[in-house]
Amino acid sequence: MKQSIAGLVSVGLASVLLLAGCGKSDDVLVVGTNATFPPFEYVGGVSGDEIQGFDIDLAKQIAKDAGKTLKVENMNFDSLIVALNAGKIDFIASGMTITPERQASVDFSAPYYEATQVVLVNKDNTSINSIDDLKGKHIAVQLGSTGDIMAKTYSQKVTAFNTGFEAVMELKNNKVDLVLFDSEPAISFLNKNPQLKMVELEFDAEFYGLAVPKGQTELLTTINNSLKTMKSNGEYDALVTKYMK
Ligand code: GLN
Repeated sequence: MKQSIAGLVSVGLASVLLLAGCGKSDDVLVVGTNATFPPFEYVGGVSGDEIQGFDIDLAKQIAKDAGKTLKVENMNFDSLIVALNAGKIDFIASGMTITPERQASVDFSAPYYEATQVVLVNKDNTSINSIDDLKGKHIAVQLGSTGDIMAKTYSQKVTAFNTGFEAVMELKNNKVDLVLFDSEPAISFLNKNPQLKMVELEFDAEFYGLAVPKGQTELLTTINNSLKTMKSNGEYDALVTKYMK
């Protein structure tokens, strides 16, 4: 008898420690993001270290609808799916494009934003006018992004960075010919770097989705319902106006 009580206590203690270890509890919803992707997620605010953005506002509303408090975990983009499947985060909100490869390891919400890849070059560069012109060029991308995957189909000279910001730095220092990146963050980087310009090519449309571990239908339904409500009550459009215009 004594032994089994001790056993129970240690099991209880172990699970408390486990929960504390990954910062999760029943009334907290943990969203994973890579806050280097403005205007969807970035570090800013009055304190200068607050994680803000379009996706973060969506995530806040989702947590609110689920009756939970939102906790944001910031990490490298290419660590997000691993963290999700390891149970470290409950869902991903990180401008993540829905792709068949990713759908093999996570479930996505309904698409919530349409984007496309664009090219960033130094203003005096007139050599890129079609997708064909990307052949053999030195391309900088964000590691694990759709831009990274696409760039490798055009060129063998692809350098991947943990953030789009570092890719843009490399371009400004003339170490690469171009950056291939998602349209909205590219515009955001362009606004801060007047020596660069954007070239729009005939790339396919991409659709961003929020990701949950496979089979988490309850959370996925909550997310989809929140998105639907935000789209119908004008909150979604208000966020577009707040962050994109
Ligand atoms: N949309 C791109 C992708 O899913 C880039 C996302 C990002 O860098 N946050 O790969």
